[in-house]
Amino acid sequence: MSMIESDEHTALRAAVAALGQRHGRDNGRDRDDGREAYDALWAEAGKLGYLGVNLPEEYGGGGGGMAELSIVLEELGAAGCPLLMMVVSPAICGTVIARFGTDEQKTRWLPGLAGATLTMAFGITEPDAGSNSHRITTTARRTTDGWVLNGRKVFISGVDIADATLIVGRTEDARTGRLKPCLFVVPRDAPGFRRRRIDMELHAHEKQFELTLDDVHLPADALVGDEDAGLLQLFAGLNPERVMTAAFALGMGRYALARAVSYAKERQVWKAPIGAHQAIAHPLAQAHIELELAGLMTRKAAHLCDAGDDIRAGEAANMAKYAAAEACVKAVDQSVHTLGGNGLTREFGLASLITASRVARIAPVSREMILNYVSHQSLGLPKSY
Ligand SMILES: Cc1cc2nc3c(=O)[nH]c(=O)nc-3n(C[C@H](O)[C@H](O)[C@H](O)COP(=O)(O)OP(=O)(O)OC[C@H]3O[C@@H](n4cnc5c(N)ncnc54)[C@H](O)[C@@H]3O)c2cc1C
Repeated sequence: MSMIESDEHTALRAAVAALGQRHGRDNGRDRDDGREAYDALWAEAGKLGYLGVNLPEEYGGGGGGMAELSIVLEELGAAGCPLLMMVVSPAICGTVIARFGTDEQKTRWLPGLAGATLTMAFGITEPDAGSNSHRITTTARRTTDGWVLNGRKVFISGVDIADATLIVGRTEDARTGRLKPCLFVVPRDAPGFRRRRIDMELHAHEKQFELTLDDVHLPADALVGDEDAGLLQLFAGLNPERVMTAAFALGMGRYALARAVSYAKERQVWKAPIGAHQAIAHPLAQAHIELELAGLMTRKAAHLCDAGDDIRAGEAANMAKYAAAEACVKAVDQSVHTLGGNGLTREFGLASLITASRVARIAPVSREMILNYVSHQSLGLPKSY
């Protein structure tokens, strides 16, 4: 893996950045009524092949991987218009179906996910399990012709705009009676599949939902992959999710920082612009360095994902997500501060990023759970739980 980005990747960055600039943050897409603008960007990016750049060419994708898809999300974020559903639809769901789906499932879903005419949400988090996904209790019971799912999920993004949700449930092992994780495609309007919007303090078009699965009957082919290899298949989707969350954080951090730098060059209340004061300049320089470093780690993690090295990708993707989220939170905080009172106005639009930047610290796996992972897996320290 080269530490220097290839010419193709640099060109992809520039092209997506240009698309992002055309749409931008200021056209209302970050407000509740921004659906039209969001849909327009999603459709245009899909048509240009950016949202399926990681999916196989034979199903209409770009034949690339996380390296390319993460560039797309980062650049849209850096332009102020990230598409959060990229984290779940092409990255998790697309990857899992491309790697483990049947030919029928691939034909049914991949061309649509690749062209972004179909969207799939992803649901693993449960109210009583949270960070401890080993405790999830959404259960699938086999019937003569398929499955029946029962359970609850929480904080699931974009269920209203997704055609289906990839639900992580459990099936009972016939031999041991133990529950093992399995992945099911649940169509948005399946009877018994209900959603309630959670009122979040986030100004984003992608909303979060609490889901109830109440005797949801699914056909046999709703199960994605092998019933006995659910955990492996799940991890194949979660590494891309972490890489994409890192890209989401990098984009947001870069967007905020660019706004702050431009403000600091112009704003003058003493003899020189405020950016000449090192108390303003140094934290911005630090934020820039930390985002650059996190970007390097994100590229390493994407490379390992694309090489199919799931174990090493797991460690790198966790580290990248951690580093990028922390760099983003710091960059946003410093950027808002740099604008003084204007940092808190709706006109300048940076204050809402304070909440948004925290998403990357909590989801899809929190800062503490990554530190736990690195303590145990990388350093071999004992577990407290
Ligand atoms: C905007 C947003 C979008 C989301 N979208 C999705 C989605 O599309 N699909 C989906 O499945 N989920 C989604 N989530 C859920 C997200 O993945 C969870 O919020 C996250 O995994 C944390 O779970 P929790 O909220 O239950 O926190 P908890 O598990 O209750 O944790 C609360 C706090 O305790 C800490 N903690 C817990 N256990 C330990 C421990 N052992 N050691 C140290 N600290 C610990 C955590 O780090 C955290 O700070 C989303 C969340 C948000 C905020």
